Amino acid sequence: MRRLEADVCVVGAGFSGLMAARRLSEAGKHVIVLEARDRVGGRVHTVTEAGAVLDLGGQWVGPTQDRINGFAAEIGARTFVTYGEGSHLYASRSPAGASGKPKRFKGTIPPLDPWSLAWLGYGWAELDRRAKKVPLDAPWTAPRAREWDGQTVASFLDRHVRAEPARRMFRIAIEAVFACDPEDLSLLHALFYIHSAGKLDLLLSTDAGAQRDRFVNGMQPVAEELAKRVKGEIVQGAAVRSISQDASSVVVVASTVSVRAKRAVVAIPPTLAGRIDYSPALPADRDQLTQRVPQGSVIKCLAVYDEPFWRKQWLTGQSISEVGPCHLTFDASPASGSPGVLLGFVEGGAARALARQPLAERRTSVLECFARAFGGRARRPEHYVDKSWADEPFSRGCYAGYLPPGVWTSHGSALRAPIGRLHWAGTETATRWNGYIDGALESGVRAATEILKEER
Ligand SMILES: Cc1cc2nc3c(=O)[nH]c(=O)nc-3n(C[C@H](O)[C@H](O)[C@H](O)COP(=O)(O)OP(=O)(O)OC[C@H]3O[C@@H](n4cnc5c(N)ncnc54)[C@H](O)[C@@H]3O)c2cc1C
Repeated sequence: MRRLEADVCVVGAGFSGLMAARRLSEAGKHVIVLEARDRVGGRVHTVTEAGAVLDLGGQWVGPTQDRINGFAAEIGARTFVTYGEGSHLYASRSPAGASGKPKRFKGTIPPLDPWSLAWLGYGWAELDRRAKKVPLDAPWTAPRAREWDGQTVASFLDRHVRAEPARRMFRIAIEAVFACDPEDLSLLHALFYIHSAGKLDLLLSTDAGAQRDRFVNGMQPVAEELAKRVKGEIVQGAAVRSISQDASSVVVVASTVSVRAKRAVVAIPPTLAGRIDYSPALPADRDQLTQRVPQGSVIKCLAVYDEPFWRKQWLTGQSISEVGPCHLTFDASPASGSPGVLLGFVEGGAARALARQPLAERRTSVLECFARAFGGRARRPEHYVDKSWADEPFSRGCYAGYLPPGVWTSHGSALRAPIGRLHWAGTETATRWNGYIDGALESGVRAATEILKEER
């Protein structure tokens, strides 16, 4: 066992932990980062397979994500705009469950009948209107916090969106944003999250929202650049199992290394933070919070073709289908446009069901979805890869932790509040772009600032 000493020990080398470590080390603190995986980046993971750079985790950045865009500019990381020339596709589902013929459309709103569009517009505006009333630093203090936290997004939709096709569209949108089913999600959390991004359109839109830009070399090199700017040691393969603290120090213990420091930043999702053994035990409020913030369920699926053949049919590669398991696709081809890559997401209950299938069956199900939208050629990629993030021991689900009903109003204040010498970071603790890379960076800065105030 290596025994190390530092001013601050950071647990986790995702964007949040790396940002905290960078800020602290730049302020002159001796920092050691302990990372469980054998790479930095956490929920971003870029691989090169079949001649394509493939992001198996986080990949997009968009307008108003000033921290990640600012860092990208600092390191000169080249971005490009998600392919958007032509039309998107939308396929409805018949009462018997069969897929309708895909219809072309442009923009964010699919071509529903006028009655359903009116209800979609009403539900959308109502969510945006309510979201503005949720304070970002304390959602539990919103004027109608108890009422909104006492219901799910599904109950909101049942009550306020009276057209079934519009409700189905909201389901797909909610699953796409939270990787959980509307029945699982607190309305208050959804409203907080919308406000945290700005408005619903910024969350959902590709050309003007969170799915707008990608990095030419993928997202993981961006995390690696951040790691290079940490003036301190990053120990990989070091899964932290226990943290003890007394009046003057903390001791953070991983399998092969322990670090004694003045303070620690725990920069991992709440549910994983809850699996660390703390001494003395954490207050009940904090421990119960970590028992109540599950990670979403998502499988990210990528198929590589010799060319992006859908572009020849004047299609963007973006599709929405009411028939799963894959309800959404995007063009994930490299900036050069070759090879062609289709990306599909399977989320929530559908992801849990599909993850139980062997890879060959997952592949067939996903490619069938691609073929319904883009034709038989989509069934014959040169390469297929998917990643089920719930199976990752050091993520246990993605895109992020979400709050089910009742959690914000019963335990919300325990999310960020430091406990003695322990500080909490991670995108789940962010006020702006919660759940996103930008939010992870915000949380790292905030945790570092807390420590610098205490340890002048
Ligand atoms: C499929 C997918 C698509 C996504 N798409 C986007 C997107 O397009 N744009 C966007 O902005 N965001 C996206 N996200 C979300 C984004 O990736 C995350 O919000 C962000 O990376 C979280 O960073 P973090 O530092 O908070 O947490 P993590 O990245 O989870 O970092 C935590 C780190 O701690 C490590 N760790 C865990 N437990 C321990 C332990 N006990 N000891 C030591 N180390 C530990 C983990 O290995 C990890 O490296 C996506 C995520 C996924 C999975």
